[in-house]
Amino acid sequence: MEEPAHSHSPAGRPDPAGWELWRLPARAVALVLAVEAGAIASVMTHLATPDGATFTGEALALAAFLTLLSVVHTELATGIERIRRRAAETSYFDLSSVWTFAAALLLPPALAAAVIAVVYLHLWRRVWRPAKVSLHRHVYTTATVVLAAGAAHAAVEQAGGLPATPDDVAGVAGIALAVLLYVVVNTLLVAAVIALTSEWPGLRALVGRLDDNALEVATLCMGGLAAVAIGSTPWLVALVLPPILVLHRAVLVRHLEEAASTDSKTGLLNSAAWQAEAARALRRAQRARGTAAVLILDLDHFKLVNDAHGHLAGDDVLAAVARELREGVRDGDLVGRFGGEEFVVLLADLPPGALGRAEVRSVAERLRRLVAELDVPVCTPDGNLTIAGLSVSVGGASVPADGATLDQVLKVADANLYAAKRGGRNLVRIAGPVQIPAPRTAAG
Ligand code: GH3
Ligand code: MG
Ligand code: MG
Repeated sequence: MEEPAHSHSPAGRPDPAGWELWRLPARAVALVLAVEAGAIASVMTHLATPDGATFTGEALALAAFLTLLSVVHTELATGIERIRRRAAETSYFDLSSVWTFAAALLLPPALAAAVIAVVYLHLWRRVWRPAKVSLHRHVYTTATVVLAAGAAHAAVEQAGGLPATPDDVAGVAGIALAVLLYVVVNTLLVAAVIALTSEWPGLRALVGRLDDNALEVATLCMGGLAAVAIGSTPWLVALVLPPILVLHRAVLVRHLEEAASTDSKTGLLNSAAWQAEAARALRRAQRARGTAAVLILDLDHFKLVNDAHGHLAGDDVLAAVARELREGVRDGDLVGRFGGEEFVVLLADLPPGALGRAEVRSVAERLRRLVAELDVPVCTPDGNLTIAGLSVSVGGASVPADGATLDQVLKVADANLYAAKRGGRNLVRIAGPVQIPAPRTAAG
């Protein structure tokens, strides 16, 4: 998102009419406003109770202490967190919940909400505004955290407060329930707004990845322990900071690993990552005495596409072809970008013998046809147009028939690819004794 996260009138004053929020579908806007109003209403309700607005000096000091720890945490982790958020587009998790969760368990709800507000204001200034996350998303997240914290507080209150004696099982159960409620409330509210904003984005985009959720639960467990520690010796809570920072680094490493194995233009595996995973899949197939195959696909006369429409249009074509290939194979198959306009596919778990070979051929033919039927809308300096008439040449080889290692089968597949090019392009050539010529369609 390149536009500014919140817009200002020419005079420099905020301009609510220009807020990005209003560009969401009406139902999503309704949900956002309802959740934000709900968060404010819950705080007001607590403040209106007889002793909801009188805070002991101890509670105020604790609130200040937790806020300070969160600020120190964020300052130490700023670089890490900024990179992490850029990599995880729809993931709203961040590790500051260790402090907001501890605040939820220890403080009266209205005071916990104040801690959350300050923590999130600081996160906004230091992490999310620089990462170009829009303001309305951040305000919404803050509201969901206030509601989640309220639910967590209620769970612990129901259980009779935080565990105070060695055998206080109810207190421990209260914390466990609080962790669960905090995650569920947050996840559901964030998922609901994503679901109302876009077309069905898939369950994984909605609720986040399993390991992201595991990370959130781990963070909350630390928050729970911190809350109990504060009950005995408040300074103990400082011991939470080092493990949380190490957790942060671990998350960064995973996101960098993911980025390092992805081809940014197409979202496919890059060459190195594909080769590593394909070699592993081949070894698995050999151990199971099964069959696997590789296909190399090279777009025909792709230079002409670039020459006619420019490299950016060429890039759009590469991305569209990548999508077709991904959709044209099964989930367990590996699709990679080998380089330039060349793609590789590993087909795993094929039936043995002639049956497997027939399946390789039929998948290769399907992919060839998908590319031949592809229309790619592109924006060029000459206006919007559709690129059609593409074609691809495909060479294939399988394990164990054509070789025992990835290198060997790739060599055979590559030789077959050249045979397909020499044969006139828009063709499939699979190694093996019987070569049935693929049907020719209008050449691209
Ligand atoms: P052939 O049918 O023999 O494969 O012809 P070709 O034109 O596809 O092959 P050639 O190897 O002559 O040219 C490949 C072209 O692919 C040239 C290069 O500019 C283009 N190309 C490689 N990588 C990219 C890329 O990332 N983006 C774009 N737009 N073009 C690329
Ligand atoms: Mg090429
Ligand atoms: Mg080519």
